[in-house]
Amino acid sequence: MAPPYLSWILIAMKNSDTYLSLWPLTDQAWQTSHLGHALIVEGNPSKAYDLGLALSRQLVCEAQGDRTCSCRSCSHEITQHPDVMRIQPEKERIRRQALQMILQNVNRPPLWSPRLVIWIEEAHRLTDAAQSYLLKSLEEPPSFLVFILTTDQSHALLATVKSRCQLLRAEPDLLDLAKDFDPEQFFQGKELTRDAIIRFSYWARSFYRHRQNPSWLALWEAGYQAYRHVNANGAQELAKEILRNAYDHVHQ
Ligand SMILES: [Zn+2]
Repeated sequence: MAPPYLSWILIAMKNSDTYLSLWPLTDQAWQTSHLGHALIVEGNPSKAYDLGLALSRQLVCEAQGDRTCSCRSCSHEITQHPDVMRIQPEKERIRRQALQMILQNVNRPPLWSPRLVIWIEEAHRLTDAAQSYLLKSLEEPPSFLVFILTTDQSHALLATVKSRCQLLRAEPDLLDLAKDFDPEQFFQGKELTRDAIIRFSYWARSFYRHRQNPSWLALWEAGYQAYRHVNANGAQELAKEILRNAYDHVHQ
């Protein structure tokens, strides 16, 4: 079997734009106490799907590890995981009965994981009756249960459903970040903010896409590490050192 972190890298490679747009969000997910019990993931279908997948993986990780984790859950195909239940439309609708079948069985604890994830894909296709039914579960979920609703049309969801969910956007407006980026100015800057690191990484990523040179990929990855350090404990000096080393390597 492929090493587990590979699935992350595969997500990244499959859609590199998605990977970096997900950053701030998956980092929140890593500190899962920041996540509620019901999440609406909104974005274009493939990005929302990728984020739904990434969040599910994190939520069922048995070690609460990062993307290099090799626990049983992280090594397993997430869409086939016993504690990830996916609900998909049938004939462009998700009906009450389909939800009922799943939700009636959610009082069992998860088999492997700390959580049981119910992932409703294309949630805007839930009928009103299905949404009303869902609402009851959203009101008093068992502590281990997390709902993920992926959609590109959250406006189609009932206000009562939305008000009980945390909204995550699968495509923050970060696309222009690489433009006019000056790395030397970046290193001279006093403050190394998370936003600045994301800009840096976007910039590295745009070079990587054009040149397909592995050291640019390493720079992009360094951005990821730096972001985590700053996010976790504000370790700006360490983050800067990581980025500086990777940057110098690119320019050798
Ligand atoms: Zn794990």
